[in-house]
Amino acid sequence: MEEEVVKTGHLRRRPWLEMFTLVCLVPGMVGCDKYTSDWTIGAAGFCELHSIRMAKTNVPIIYGLIRLNSEQQAREVASTNHFPHADTYFLGGCFLGTPTQAVLYVCPDCLGARKNWEATHVKGVVP
Ligand SMILES: [Zn+2]
Repeated sequence: MEEEVVKTGHLRRRPWLEMFTLVCLVPGMVGCDKYTSDWTIGAAGFCELHSIRMAKTNVPIIYGLIRLNSEQQAREVASTNHFPHADTYFLGGCFLGTPTQAVLYVCPDCLGARKNWEATHVKGVVP
C-alpha cells in the first residue's frame, strides 16, 4: 500500500482503503472461516441442566428439509429435557449455505445422558 503525497507534502487519507483493510484483514485475524459458523459466540458456556462448563466442538451442518423417523423424533423430544447440549450435527435449513461446519457447545453429562437414552430407546445404527 502506498500513500499519495499531495502538493502540501501531507499524506492524503484514503477512507476506502482503510475500510477495505478492515473488511478483509480483521476477520482473518480473529480466526473467522467462511466454512465454519460459530454458534458459541455470545452463548453461555455452562449447561443449564447439569451446571457444568461445556466444551466447544465442530459438527457438520446438514442442509435441506430433513424428515425425522420416529426414533429421531423421540430423540429430539427427549433432548429438550434430558440432554439439550449433545448435538452431533446442526440443521442449516432449506437454503444451502457456504458453512459446512458449526461450532457448538457440548456438555459431557448431556453426551452421557444421550448415550444412555439411545442405548435403551434406539435400535440399529444411530445417526
Ligand atoms: Zn448438560
